[in-house]
Amino acid sequence: MGEEVESSVPRTHPRYKSLLVRERLIKGFEEGYVARAGLIAHGRGECFDYLIGETTIEPAVKAIEAAAAALLLARNPVISVNGNVAALVPEEVVRLADVVNAKLEVNLFYRTEDRARRIAEILTRHGAREVLGVDDAVAEIPELLSQRRKVSRRGILIADVVLAPLEDGDRTEALRRMGKSVITIDLNPLSRTSRSATITIVDNVVRAMPKMVEYARELSTYSREGLTDILNNYDNNETLVQALKHIIKRLDELSQSKLTLF
Ligand code: ATP
Repeated sequence: MGEEVESSVPRTHPRYKSLLVRERLIKGFEEGYVARAGLIAHGRGECFDYLIGETTIEPAVKAIEAAAAALLLARNPVISVNGNVAALVPEEVVRLADVVNAKLEVNLFYRTEDRARRIAEILTRHGAREVLGVDDAVAEIPELLSQRRKVSRRGILIADVVLAPLEDGDRTEALRRMGKSVITIDLNPLSRTSRSATITIVDNVVRAMPKMVEYARELSTYSREGLTDILNNYDNNETLVQALKHIIKRLDELSQSKLTLF
């Protein structure tokens, strides 16, 4: 995770990490770049993280590997960044863009020029050389009503692979209809985004992003054939099935007191 926030949470608190993540979002909200709805979305994510067990599960690792392969194989990969992503994993997003040679683009559901600019500043502070989607968000994704349809001509509009963590369903479906591969990170295996993405990483973005960087570094030494094999062997439907089975099994074991929660 990027820079530390002033924290009133004692390190000994059993939910220290989770509370720290919350504080980062609140700080982002107070600084004007995390949307109110972003705070609510985080609550939804936390709920699923409890069910998953706040750990990176095997199906997520498989999806991360396939995602790294897809980004490395892409002609025009783009990483789409919203307020929550900028608050939680700015450093990792910039690093990943470097490793897979992707463009970074600010893309907001509740777009204001001020919020877009602030997010670009955060990414620049973390080493981004270029951030699209601020002054150049003039092209449009067809069939979308929200401000989220505004995209950069040099970024999402021409991308073949878009990594869009914490995305909403409408936009994921619209990008898919445009023929793009969409990789998402979403703790909710039942969301429309999870269901319509090409590759769904059912994990917390704060755990998944550093792992993506690791995998991308390792896979960057592979041949195109090796990367294509990884992609061809990946089945997103199976990932979602396995994520749900993990939750069912865990809840079943918890309900029989076979597991302790923390
Ligand atoms: P959809 O439109 O896809 O059906 P939604 O209405 O919940 O879902 P959003 O609010 O745009 O759409 O999506 C945010 C998604 O991100 C939610 O599914 C939420 O569970 C997930 N999420 C929130 N915080 C995190 C996080 N830290 N890591 C991973 N996923 C998260």
